[in-house]
Amino acid sequence: MPTETFEFQVEARQLLQLMIHSVYSNKDVFLRELVSNASDALDKLRLAALRDDVTDVDVTDLHIELEADKEARTLTVRDNGIGMSYDEVTHLIGTIANSGTAKFLQELREAEDAAGADGLIGQFGVGFYSGFMVADEVTLVTRRAGEAKGTRWTSRGEGTYTLETVDEAPQGTSVTLHLKPADSENQLHDYTSTWKIKEIVKRYSDFITWPIRLLPEPGEDGAEAREAETLNSMKALWARPRDEVSDDEYHELYKHIAHDWREPLETIRLQAEGTFEYQALLFVPSHAPHDLFTQGYQRGVQLYVKRVFIMDDCEELLPPYLRFVKGVVDAQDLSLNVSREILQQDRHIRMIQRRLTKKVLATIKDLRSSAPDRYTTFWREFGAVLKEGLVTDSENRDAILAAASFATTHDADEPTTLQGYVERMKDGQSDIYFMTGESRQAIEDSPHMEAFRAKGVEVLLLTDAVDEVWVDAVAEFEGKRLRSVAKGEVDLGGDEDEKSDAEKTQQSEEYAGLLGWMTEHLGEDVKEVRLSSRLTVSPACVVSDANELTPALENMYRAMGQ
Ligand code: ADP
Ligand code: MG
Repeated sequence: MPTETFEFQVEARQLLQLMIHSVYSNKDVFLRELVSNASDALDKLRLAALRDDVTDVDVTDLHIELEADKEARTLTVRDNGIGMSYDEVTHLIGTIANSGTAKFLQELREAEDAAGADGLIGQFGVGFYSGFMVADEVTLVTRRAGEAKGTRWTSRGEGTYTLETVDEAPQGTSVTLHLKPADSENQLHDYTSTWKIKEIVKRYSDFITWPIRLLPEPGEDGAEAREAETLNSMKALWARPRDEVSDDEYHELYKHIAHDWREPLETIRLQAEGTFEYQALLFVPSHAPHDLFTQGYQRGVQLYVKRVFIMDDCEELLPPYLRFVKGVVDAQDLSLNVSREILQQDRHIRMIQRRLTKKVLATIKDLRSSAPDRYTTFWREFGAVLKEGLVTDSENRDAILAAASFATTHDADEPTTLQGYVERMKDGQSDIYFMTGESRQAIEDSPHMEAFRAKGVEVLLLTDAVDEVWVDAVAEFEGKRLRSVAKGEVDLGGDEDEKSDAEKTQQSEEYAGLLGWMTEHLGEDVKEVRLSSRLTVSPACVVSDANELTPALENMYRAMGQ
């Protein structure tokens, strides 16, 4: 097949332009991106071999190799991993379908200005393309395990790339960067320098479980005789004693796993010993991904068995309402051949899930007192997801309630805990009042709120869609019923009770005519028209029966087509 030239997709071109003209100072990250891809490719090949998906492939020395050539000004990152077919190169490299890049562009659009864009490069893994920050030409040669021919991709990053089929290619992938002219003012950016390469690998990729070897520079004295040097310690962070691992190291692992370049909000470790041994290293991100509420959202916890990567988004390890948690679980006693079907049945996996869930919830609760700022961030980003658990996980309902926050009429800025609400309850108040609605403003404007405001009774203001659902699932908190201010009769005590029966009867008689007239005219639209003590300013309001759908929930179900 001859060499063919293709145009990049519009979005890919935009991204490349950003890379090429980047003034982002931390260009070193390109290497962690390429190493990270190589590591993923090795994981995939080992797994494929374990499952006999590929045969006739030598997997005895899987590794990553770095080779620098000062004369030619090239740096090559090579792996003998799974490789890519011609079609895969077209899809994976020619487009920007991959997760990290899609996220990046999404935020880029939201940032909408160049200044914002530049900061973003630092926060995101923009993967393969980041090579163009340091190179004016990139060549990728790859051969998929089990295939006879290879593929060569090359681009100068300027709108087009070429593709050709090659007869001879080692299995795996090599990426060669032709480096831009050395920055004479700043020797720090010479990526052919041995110490520079060592420094970057040590900083960003030390925990990679495959050996990262640096080949001796050709032409150096006795280079031929020397062996490649392994640069990383290859120690799985989750298996190392806690006091041996720095926060930075944990954070680098998070970035590698989550394809996120911001620091995580919280790191959670768990070591279980005994009959069923496992280690877990979990991270709470600092930002909700934009696709958290969409169907295909990939959960982030990876499953390892005895240090061997098994799968990426292992759904069985955490319940859906903790789907934002990223990390690694390494179990000692599972089979390497474990499948999704087996996992779903596995008693041990269920035990792990229960334990991890409790640990995550306890960590969030503790965060509120130990790091209030981070808790606030957490709740803003993930509160709505967590509340799904109030509906689906009755076992942990109390723990979720204890970790939750609610907007309240008590304070315009500070949300409250249910505990806080209960402590402020008025003498004689027996229920916890809430109202659901589209926004704080909409709720506060509601006539239902008038009596509560007038009497100074605190009301929780619930504005997430999920609030409509969980309030039905959670009947009470510490023996106090949860009650909607918009449903049924609300007895706030006070004036009304002080009215004598005689007064009430008189009032009813006085208004009997009006109520009758209204009932007749509203006809089918209402069930009943009655006098109320709940209003102070508005003349009338619509109230549901205590066990009917609230108007907002009716809207939600209607939107869902039910
Ligand atoms: P991401 O790693 O976030 O998916 P990248 O831009 O780094 O995004 O890579 C895009 C895709 O290209 C990868 O998901 C992978 O499928 C493929 N790829 C990149 N590098 C390699 C490699 N060394 N070996 C095999 N596949 C690779
Ligand atoms: Mg990548």
